[in-house]
Amino acid sequence: MSQVWLIGHPVAHSLSPAMHNAAFDKLGLPHRYTVRDVTDAQLGATLERLRRADVLGANVTIPHKEAALRLVDEASDEARRIGAVNTIVRRGERLIGDNTDRIGFHRGLESAGILEISNVDVLVLGAGGAARACVLELLRGNDVLVAGRTIERAERLVASMPSEKTGTARAVTWDQARQMTWVDALVNATPLGMHGEDALQGFAIEPLPGMIADLVPIAEETPLVRRAREAQHVRVMDGLLMLLHQAARSFELWTGVPAPLEVMRAALPRRV
Ligand code: NAP
Repeated sequence: MSQVWLIGHPVAHSLSPAMHNAAFDKLGLPHRYTVRDVTDAQLGATLERLRRADVLGANVTIPHKEAALRLVDEASDEARRIGAVNTIVRRGERLIGDNTDRIGFHRGLESAGILEISNVDVLVLGAGGAARACVLELLRGNDVLVAGRTIERAERLVASMPSEKTGTARAVTWDQARQMTWVDALVNATPLGMHGEDALQGFAIEPLPGMIADLVPIAEETPLVRRAREAQHVRVMDGLLMLLHQAARSFELWTGVPAPLEVMRAALPRRV
């Protein structure tokens, strides 16, 4: 049996073990996906233990994705562009870092029926690793505003975007974002909504934009997703859809075989 670890803090309520273990079982693969709640101080030693022969690799989640990029032996171009590692594959004794969040976002949008986002003004809330993956994807023809609670982080994100992209990106303060009354599309790449709060509380945007992607992946719909679905004019990508598609890509990196997507989808706590 080989193991795959989810390394993060906190990780107890993650929906990933159910998806990956269902996929391993379906394909008759003798692997197990388990969680490891790891503090900053324990991260280096935990990654060293991934070099063991009975480990396929790992997922890395909040708050260790950026640190993991510095600790792996090699990183894919994608991980370096995003500045974070969410998937580690063990090759011999070497740890290869990758990132499947942008692909997860892209395929999540596609499967939510949001095939074409181009030539629109998008507001991205948040400036962490997930926001960076989304902005990279959105900079194919869109104008993107990145709202950072810590404006310096948003400015760093924007400054690090590759110059060959066809859209534009600009950092705005959280207060500026709250005062905006109109955007075409909105991406919530903060944890707001995780505990039942509405990510747009205190924002002036009205009506809701025609496309909303809420990355928060929880068992219940977030208040923002619920409100967007009720509004009917809004095309919505639920965080669970991105979770599903980034997981499927990670699965393929560890195993080398196509992920049984419908099995993984059925292991989620609600239909997406
Ligand atoms: P991160 O690196 O910690 O970044 C979080 C961002 O949100 C930062 O810009 C942070 O601002 C901001 N933020 C945090 N709390 C806030 C608040 N109360 N008000 C305003 N801004 C706040 O995290 P991440 O990895 O980018 O993840 C962000 C979210 O995306 C999480 O909810 C995560 O679960 C979700 N996610 C989902 C998927 C999926 O597959 N569905 C994949 C990846 C991530 P500061 O810089 O000021 O702290």
